[in-house]
Amino acid sequence: MSIAKRINLLVLAITAVAVAFVLLFSTQRQYLSDRDTLLESSASYLRSQPQLQYEIYAGNTDALKDSLQALLGLSRAAAFAAIYDVDGQNMTSMIRGPGIARPALGQLRRGASPVESTVGLADGGRLSDRMPLLSIILASDKGLHQTLPVFALINPGREGLSRSDFEQALMRPSQANSLHVVGFVQLSINRWTLLSEGLYELLPLFGACLIFVLLSTIVTRRITQSITSPLSRLHQLANDIADGRFASRVEASDGGEVKEIMFALDHILGDLDSYRSRISVDHRLLSLKVEERTEQLSRRNQELNRAVREVSHTRNELRKLAYFDALTSLPNRRLFSEQLALLIRLAKRNNQILGLMFLDLDNFKRINDSLGHRAGDLLLKEVASRLSSCVRESDVVAHYVDSDSRIDVSRLGGDEFTVVLNQLASEEAAGIVARRVIETLTQPMTIDGHELVVTPSIGIAIVPRDGSDVDEVLRCADTAMYHAKASGKNNYLYYTQDMEAAGLDRLRLEAELRKAIEREQLCLLYQPQVDTVTGSVIGAEALMRWEHPELGRVTPAQFIPLAEETGLISQLGEWALGAACQQLLDWDQAGHHLDKVSVNVSASQISEHFISETEALLARTGIAPERVQLEITEGLVMEDSASTIDALKRLRALGLRLSIDDFGTGYSSLSYLSHFPIDELKIDQSFIMDIGKSDNDNSLVIAIIAMARSMGIGVVAEGVESDVQYQFLSAQDTHVIQGFLFSEPLSATDFPRLLDPFHFMGQIQSMPRTLQAASTEVRQIGS
Ligand code: C2E
Ligand code: CA
Ligand code: CA
Repeated sequence: MSIAKRINLLVLAITAVAVAFVLLFSTQRQYLSDRDTLLESSASYLRSQPQLQYEIYAGNTDALKDSLQALLGLSRAAAFAAIYDVDGQNMTSMIRGPGIARPALGQLRRGASPVESTVGLADGGRLSDRMPLLSIILASDKGLHQTLPVFALINPGREGLSRSDFEQALMRPSQANSLHVVGFVQLSINRWTLLSEGLYELLPLFGACLIFVLLSTIVTRRITQSITSPLSRLHQLANDIADGRFASRVEASDGGEVKEIMFALDHILGDLDSYRSRISVDHRLLSLKVEERTEQLSRRNQELNRAVREVSHTRNELRKLAYFDALTSLPNRRLFSEQLALLIRLAKRNNQILGLMFLDLDNFKRINDSLGHRAGDLLLKEVASRLSSCVRESDVVAHYVDSDSRIDVSRLGGDEFTVVLNQLASEEAAGIVARRVIETLTQPMTIDGHELVVTPSIGIAIVPRDGSDVDEVLRCADTAMYHAKASGKNNYLYYTQDMEAAGLDRLRLEAELRKAIEREQLCLLYQPQVDTVTGSVIGAEALMRWEHPELGRVTPAQFIPLAEETGLISQLGEWALGAACQQLLDWDQAGHHLDKVSVNVSASQISEHFISETEALLARTGIAPERVQLEITEGLVMEDSASTIDALKRLRALGLRLSIDDFGTGYSSLSYLSHFPIDELKIDQSFIMDIGKSDNDNSLVIAIIAMARSMGIGVVAEGVESDVQYQFLSAQDTHVIQGFLFSEPLSATDFPRLLDPFHFMGQIQSMPRTLQAASTEVRQIGS
């Protein structure tokens, strides 16, 4: 409830109470005065009726009734009147309406003397002026009873008195010596009626009070309003501030404390306003900052996401690096070892056989060196994919290997691959798969525009027969592979105990080979190149051998690839070149003249160092450079590299002769040859071997010979073993022949006996005529 209302109510209550008091008081006074007036006027009425003595004495009821009538006419409140004789016997009575009790006279006058007037209540109680209103309201009977004695101046006890007797007594009251009570008059008043009669008198007062209350209410309202309106404005203001809307200025029109409060508020509001504008600036700045920060955060977040992606990518990459070969995506040695260990354990537990194929590409290093690493990598990838598809082709292996089992191809490094054949049906099954692998891999492949043929050598180890842990099994397969390579490449072999006896395990071989030069275990054999027109030896190829004290004679196939892989080849090659030159000079001195010697040079030997060493050698020995021929494998020559061409040109500029070895196995288009400074082609043995085989097409050999001749380059046929081959070559006008047909490679001691002029003439002439005829036929086909 607002203060104004409270004040209004309070003032109203106070006014009402005051007015009520005034009204009560007035009402009570009015009542008392009306009562007393009535009582007095009834008494004075009786005094004014002296004839009443006689009427009572005479029992004249009519007259008495008239008196009662007059008495009741004094007031509307007079409700009952009665007249009694001196003995208290009712003579007559008159009633105006019911409503009050009419007690007996004796009861009313109990305890009063006969001459006394009485005023009392029905129960005989005396009249009291204390709180008359309350007694009226509380009393059940509202009656007030007055009794008055009626006096006579003559003794009414006497009989026979007349009206005039009473009149004379009245007229001469001094002669009367006593007063006599002749009867009693009773007047009963209805107090309630008396009270209500009085209220009419008070009506103006009531009106005035009402007006007073109204006026005071209005005035109070005005006053409280004038007091509280600033307060309610303050209240409104407080509400507005609480709701966040407020005017910048507060008008302080009123005086007093409120004005001060307004001033203070105005001050506060001013502060608030500037605070608010400061806050809003701060808020804008803050939101700018927040925006900036949010942007930074989202950038950070993006960077973080990227970093997380990179990390997980890197982790995957690392895993791949750790377990997979980057080039071929095949499992690497580590994953291979872990898988193999697992498979070996499983195979043992389930009593199954497991095969491990160890595969190494023949002459890979040569290809890599000659065509470059890029081509080498492409080749390895092609090999990997062929290998994978080959061993996964169900028809290849399904019959031999449980189809549910895993056949995993891994790359151990370089050109070494492994294939694990799990749950083999039989030991022989591994060989079948190996043959299929060889067949698949030896299909020509086109690398960097060159058509290449790679051949693998495969070693097979069987678990549990050959070993029961990864290292052991792998070593066995490796040894078997090495033997396969040594026994002619493009081949597979199962591991056997004998291989260990041969001591061909690679690590040992490598260590031994390092010491071979200083221990003078290397030597050169010489194989003659025969001019079939004259039957004389016109040159010799120096072929290296390793005479090992325990291993016996180790062939180049067994140690040259190893030397190439380990880099030992440059030492071996330099030694061979030096030894061959020295041998030529030694033979010269011994009177055995050989025109020239051919020395094999590995692709990886060709270097700045090699050129300068060769130059130094020529200078040291003083040998005529044109008597020294370098045999370089086709792949190297074909490498389209300016530096290789430059190196070859520089070697040739030294006066040396250059020969291309194994021509036709590589990938060169013949027209390429014109770029190279070469003196001779050696047709590869594989073509020569094919000559004379029934279904063979010799057109390639014919083409090579024709082209070499057109370019003015010499041709040597190598690996000629049979008369048929010889006849065919002769028919093609190829007259320089190297091969077992004339001689195997011989030691330096044995070789000079071939140097007699026309040494092979007899052999040539003894060739069967029929073959001569056959060669003529071949010539006709060729042309
Ligand atoms: P290559 O240069 O093609 O040498 C010819 C190979 O054919 C020699 O094998 C030789 O004994 C063999 N041969 C000769 N005539 C016949 C024949 O009528 N029938 C058969 N089946 N084979 C014949 P070798 O001496 O075992 O040499 C193998 C390879 O080792 C050589 O092949 C050459 O590439 C390499 N080599 C030999 N000595 C050296 C050397 O000092 N340095 C280098 N870098 N490599 C060498
Ligand atoms: Ca050669
Ligand atoms: Ca050759």
